[in-house]
Amino acid sequence: VTPRTPLIAGNWKMNLDHLQAVAFVQKLHWTLKDAKHEDGSVEVAVFPPFTDLRTVQTLLDADKIPFALGAQDISTHDSGAYTGEVSGAFLAKLDNRYVIIGHSERREYHHEGDEIVAAKVQAALKHGLVPVICVGESADDLEKFGASAVPVGQLKAALEGVKADADIVVAYEPVWAIGSGQAATPEQAQDVCAKLRDVIAEKLGEDAAARTRVLYGGSVKAANIASFMREPDVDGALVGGASLVVDEFAAIIRYQK
Ligand code: PEP
Repeated sequence: VTPRTPLIAGNWKMNLDHLQAVAFVQKLHWTLKDAKHEDGSVEVAVFPPFTDLRTVQTLLDADKIPFALGAQDISTHDSGAYTGEVSGAFLAKLDNRYVIIGHSERREYHHEGDEIVAAKVQAALKHGLVPVICVGESADDLEKFGASAVPVGQLKAALEGVKADADIVVAYEPVWAIGSGQAATPEQAQDVCAKLRDVIAEKLGEDAAARTRVLYGGSVKAANIASFMREPDVDGALVGGASLVVDEFAAIIRYQK
């Protein structure tokens, strides 16, 4: 089985302007000096707003800071008359490695359904970006269908047309756990992440399932990260609120199983 390098990803959402971003990334880097991300045993990624990407890219490059860069969204189009949209071609030129697709906030506030999510996954792959495909059930879904039915369905739809050798990341983010302070239990996260890995096996094959990282997201903090990372099918975390606090995010990255 190919080892899966744990990924700790910070989704800044609409926080930190490009000046605040510089201060934040520098401070995080200093705080993490000699931490395990320096030797590649954990991958750290930050997902700033679009307007920060160029500044953060320049800083990472100039100071040789080993964080990967990702965007929070992508257009389904390459270029043209799509006011307000940002193309995967542009993101790739700014050295973005990742792009978050299908975050519950986009599904809810921008009415992004399974079809748009699948088209965005294709757009990311076309431009050499790794889609971080977010799936998860709402509190209502949980009550009606249990934890796994909705995320499993969302992932099947998102993987439509994806090739077996595609480089993707999947993030299980129960909507009720996002920003609520109430994380899923490690057992709940393991159960759904294992089922999502089965979907990857079914759609893309066993090799893809063995090498693809499945993250948990939803109220992850320093105090609970290790309990998630001890689960065999949880390969990292997508972190919102706690990724904006330098000491907290650094402590998450330094988790000890
Ligand atoms: C998120 O929005 O991806 C997230 C996991 O947020 P939080 O960590 O704040 O729950």
